[in-house]
Amino acid sequence: MRGGADVTSAKTRWLGVLGWPVEHSRSPAIHTAALEASGIDAVYLPLPVPPESLASAIDGLRALGAFGANVTLPHKERVMEHLDAVEPSARAIGAVNTIVRDGDRLVGANTDGAGLARSLSEAGVVVRGARVLVVGAGGAARASVAGLLEEGAAEVAVAARRADRAADIASSIEGAVSALDLSDPGAMRAAAAQTDLLVQATSATLGDRDPTFAASLPLAELPASAAVVDLVYSPRETSVLRAAAARGLRTVDGLGMLVWQAALAFERWHGVTAPVEVMRRAAERAT
Ligand code: NDP
Repeated sequence: MRGGADVTSAKTRWLGVLGWPVEHSRSPAIHTAALEASGIDAVYLPLPVPPESLASAIDGLRALGAFGANVTLPHKERVMEHLDAVEPSARAIGAVNTIVRDGDRLVGANTDGAGLARSLSEAGVVVRGARVLVVGAGGAARASVAGLLEEGAAEVAVAARRADRAADIASSIEGAVSALDLSDPGAMRAAAAQTDLLVQATSATLGDRDPTFAASLPLAELPASAAVVDLVYSPRETSVLRAAAARGLRTVDGLGMLVWQAALAFERWHGVTAPVEVMRRAAERAT
């Protein structure tokens, strides 16, 4: 039995990632490598789905017997209304990145927050009891807040340039979550001084598109024992991680979260331990 790209069986299962565009997604490379390494008779495909076709694409997953799927931008929120059920943790995040089959039902799950928690634990960063400052208020920020609270973080402050979006996260996620205005330097400095873990969850460091962004964060006020994680993994060493490392702080890049959200989805679908190192190498090669 061969898995991944080289398929000959009439029993081959199929999975895929729905996105628009989807060509940039590393999920096909990561999951194909994992299927091959695990000897699972399945293929994992990129599934380009324009927004107006999302409902029929979900019907297509049902009709064509997809074994499972991932969901990426721009469908992570909208997909929820087309599924048969959404797990409470995904509902709390407000987004689905993984679809699992339960008999004939398609159920929405989210492995992003747990993936971040696993990548931090792997890097030796203790989340239980930590005071966390999340910068950004998009889907990745939401998943981080929910995932880190679930993992036992003591409190989370969310800072965004649009303070209403941070307030929306604080009011919609249960637990000790507060909101901050990223453009209020005094409030940001005060929050940083009380932070054990800073999570960079904006897209400002993607492709180093905003070289001034790192300087706008209160990295100098973080305690010397604090850690900084940047969810962006392209480049792996972002301007924020460079600045944090220059201050002597512990840094974690976003590749671990990418790998672990995939590993947790793999385990949900296939019921076997994910070959995490194989997936990490595939993610690195796809960089
Ligand atoms: P969204 O587009 O949903 O949100 C982006 C957020 O970044 C918004 O809050 C936006 O603010 C903010 N932002 C962008 N530029 C700036 C800036 N210059 N200053 C301040 N805030 C800014 O994206 P996601 O939340 O889905 O993803 C964010 C990043 O996280 C992505 O770039 C992605 O690479 C990474 N990511 C990594 C994952 C992993 O597995 N490692 C998983 C998911 C995401 P505003 O609303 O005001 O525009």
